[in-house]
Amino acid sequence: DTESPPPKLELVFIPFLASGHMIPMVDMARLFASHGVAVTIITTTHNSLIFKNAIDRDIKSGKPIKLHVLPFPFAEVGLPEGLEKMNSVTSQGQKQKLYQATMLLKKPIQQMLLDHIPDCIVSDMFYPWTVDFAAELGIPRIVFQGSSYFALCAQYSMRHYAPCENVTSDMELFVVPGLPDRVELTRLQVPDHDRTKNELTAILDVIREAELRSFGVLMNSFYELEPSYVNHFRNVIGIKTWNIGPVSLCLSTNDKYERGHNSVVDPHECLSWLDSMKPNSVLYVSFGSQHKFPPPQLYEIATALEASNHPFIWVIHNEETIDGGDEAWLPNGFKSRVNGMIIRGWAPQVLILEHVAIGGFMTHCGWNSILESVTAGVPLIAWPLYAEQFYNEKLVTQVAKIGVGVGAEKWLNLLEDDGKVVVKKKKIEKAVIRLMDGGDEAKEIRERTKELGRKAMKVVEVGGSSYNDLISLIGELVL
Ligand code: UDP
Repeated sequence: DTESPPPKLELVFIPFLASGHMIPMVDMARLFASHGVAVTIITTTHNSLIFKNAIDRDIKSGKPIKLHVLPFPFAEVGLPEGLEKMNSVTSQGQKQKLYQATMLLKKPIQQMLLDHIPDCIVSDMFYPWTVDFAAELGIPRIVFQGSSYFALCAQYSMRHYAPCENVTSDMELFVVPGLPDRVELTRLQVPDHDRTKNELTAILDVIREAELRSFGVLMNSFYELEPSYVNHFRNVIGIKTWNIGPVSLCLSTNDKYERGHNSVVDPHECLSWLDSMKPNSVLYVSFGSQHKFPPPQLYEIATALEASNHPFIWVIHNEETIDGGDEAWLPNGFKSRVNGMIIRGWAPQVLILEHVAIGGFMTHCGWNSILESVTAGVPLIAWPLYAEQFYNEKLVTQVAKIGVGVGAEKWLNLLEDDGKVVVKKKKIEKAVIRLMDGGDEAKEIRERTKELGRKAMKVVEVGGSSYNDLISLIGELVL
C-alpha cells in the first residue's frame, strides 16, 4: 500500500533565506510530513515566524514536522536586527552581509545535524557545503532547485558551450545550444554570469559541482509541463531528479491566506471584488517577492493598464519609494477612472490566481509564479527582469506557448537599478490587449494553459506523475 507511512524516515530541510526559496521548500517539507516522513526545517528566528502558524496546524493534526530555529548572527555581520532574508536587503553591501550570515549558520547547522543524524539532508542549492558534510555523516544530500527544468537545461548548456564569447552585437540573436527545441535569446537577455566569468560564475560553478555529486535534485515542477526538458536533464545532463510539484496544490485555504507572509489586504475583500467580475476578465500584475520598479516605470505600467481598459489587481512592493512621492507615480485621477485594485505589499497570490475571474498574469517569470499560474490555468504576460527569468520567458513564449512576451530586452542588475524605464507604455498595453482581448492566438494560449492546469491537478493525485515520484523517492530513502 503506497499510502502507508514509511518506517522512521527522518529528513532535515535547509531552505535558503529568500521567500522564493523558503516558500516552496517549506511546502515540500510539509508534503513529506503528510506522507508520514519525520521532517525538521532549519530556519532563523524571524523567518520562522512566517511559517509558524502553518507548522503548528500540521503538528495539531498529528503530522511529524518541526522547526529548528537558529538565532541569526546580526551583530557578527553588521546587519540591522530583523533583516534575515534576501527580499529585505536594499544594497549590494547588505546582500553580501546576508550571504556571510548564511555562511556563519554553517557551524550551528552542522552541530545540530551531528547531535541527531537524520536519514537525508534536503538543502537549497545555495548550501553546496552540505554535500561533503552529508558524506561525512554517511547520508545522502538532495538538492532543492527552485527553478524550471528548462532554465536549468539552458544554464548547463550555456556553461558547457559558452556560446556568447564570439557574439559582437548586443542585440544579436543566438540559439541556446544543445536544447531539445530551438530557443532564441539576444545577448543582453543572457545573465552576466552565464556569458562572462565573474564572482557569481565562480559561486555557481561550486553549486553545480555540488549538484553533480548529490544524491539527486528535488524539483517543484511536473513532468507534463516540460517533458523534453525533464528527459534532457535526466538523460543528457545526467542528473537524477524527482518532480513533486506543483507543491502549492497541497495547501489549505488557511495556508493560502498567509503563505510566505501575512496578506496586507483582507483576502475576503479581494475575493469578493473578484466575485463581481466576469470569468477570465481580470489581469493580475505582480513581479514577485523582491523586485521594486522605480516610479517612472510604475507610471508606464499605470498608463498602460488604464489604456488597455481591463480590470486588474496590481501588486506593488516598494512602499518606501512611493510613500515619499505621495503616489506621484500614478497619473492624476487614475484610481477614480480605472476598475482595478492596487495591493501595496504582500498579496495572497495563490488565492487570487485560483479565482475564475483572473484571465492573465503579468509576471517577472519567477518560477514559483509561473508554476502557480499554470496550476490555476492562467496564461501569462512574461516580463522577465534578471537571473534565470529570461530563460523562463522562453519556456512560456517559445516552448510551452502559454503566454506572450512584453518585450523586455535586457537583463537587469538587481540593486543597481538606474531608475530608468525598461519597458514603455505602448509595449505593455499591446501585450495586455494581445492576451486579454480574446483573439484567436489568445484563445489558443488560454486553452493550452487551462489544459496544463487540469494536468497539474492530476499529477499530485494518487497514481499521478508527481505523486509517484514522491512515493518512489521515499521508497529509495527507506532502503
Ligand atoms: N508571493 C505572494 N505574494 C506576493 C508576492 C509573492 O504570495 O505579494 C509569493 C508567490 O506566490 C510565489 C513567491 O512569493 O510563491 C515568489 O516566488 P517567485 O519564484 O515567483 O519570485 P521571486 O520572489 O523568487 O523572485
